[in-house]
Amino acid sequence: MTFTPAARLTGIEKSAIRQIYDRALAGSINLGLGEPDFPTPTVIREEAIRFINQEKILYTPNAGLIELRRAIAGYYGDATKYEGVCVTNGSQEALFVALMALINPGDEVLCPDPGFVAYPTMVRMAGGKPVFYKLPAKYKFQLSVEDFKRKLSGKTRAVIVNSPSNPAGSVLPPIDLACMAKLLTGSDIIVIADEIYQEIYFDRRPSSIKAFYPHTLHISGLSKSHAMTGWRLGWVYGDPEIIRHLIVLHQYATTCASAISQRAALAAFTDEGRAAAENLRAELRARRDFLVEQIDVQLAEFKPNRIIPDGAFYLMLDISSFGKSFEIAERLLDNKVITIPGAAFGEEAEGWLRLSFATDFDTIREGVRRIKQLR
Ligand code: PMP
Repeated sequence: MTFTPAARLTGIEKSAIRQIYDRALAGSINLGLGEPDFPTPTVIREEAIRFINQEKILYTPNAGLIELRRAIAGYYGDATKYEGVCVTNGSQEALFVALMALINPGDEVLCPDPGFVAYPTMVRMAGGKPVFYKLPAKYKFQLSVEDFKRKLSGKTRAVIVNSPSNPAGSVLPPIDLACMAKLLTGSDIIVIADEIYQEIYFDRRPSSIKAFYPHTLHISGLSKSHAMTGWRLGWVYGDPEIIRHLIVLHQYATTCASAISQRAALAAFTDEGRAAAENLRAELRARRDFLVEQIDVQLAEFKPNRIIPDGAFYLMLDISSFGKSFEIAERLLDNKVITIPGAAFGEEAEGWLRLSFATDFDTIREGVRRIKQLR
């Protein structure tokens, strides 16, 4: 039998990041990480253990435990608005159900370039057409209002905004968010605000586009802020009228997020849980500063063009004088250092590598040393 997958999978392949990992040699230094390498805070782990030992582990309501939905709504300012929360298996599922609930065939969805690889793929799976708005390298991967305006059309159904961003760690300033909002005001376009890195910032707390544009769905979770990637705990928060439809999709796809993860997640919203996130942020800031220093010292002869991120845990390094980003990332695999080619995130990041600093100081130092061998 020759198996042909469903048409919705046509042209959809394993992500370029996975392909890089598949080719990595044993013992490689990993600057490709998309997750913090810290243990999950003790207060969260202990609550999970208590729950496993003392209670029955059953399905929860589809949209999540009421207490957790209240805590999440409270995080956005009003715990009574918990009907606007759907707890999901990571923010990845939140993005998926949001797009599946919004997109009809032919609808256009504005996605950032460069941006998280899952956006255009999920848009296509939902039958929509990704249209890329540029976060130009020459603007340090910040918004080009002109380009954004040009990409809006009568077919635009949704806009994905990701700040702080993957891959650049760029934070959109309030003025840019306000400009985007102004261009959308009066339309039926929904903004999908992927704020999974919202709690990882090094300067001022990032603003949400929701403050400027009410038809916004917040997408977030605990993967990054509380080092909980493996727990698969995310959410979508917005107008209960919209969320109602997402919950139906979520119900048939997964029933509910893990009861254990949901119970444990409640501890993230306590003072101890918040303090843990603050420590993680401070540690990542120190690592960011260390990576910048290592690049500037070890790679001094390259006069490296690097963009110091304001959030997330990625830094963009310009390697355009050496070649195309995929070739360079592949050459670096031979030097036993994993980096992610900018082109994996879109045309705009060609000539750049994404380096993750969600790893320890020794790994960062050695990783940069191996990059130096590019010469
Ligand atoms: N959005 C962005 C921008 C990401 O980088 C990631 C993970 N790399 C996700 C969403 C998904 O994260 P999770 O499902 O663990 O919440």
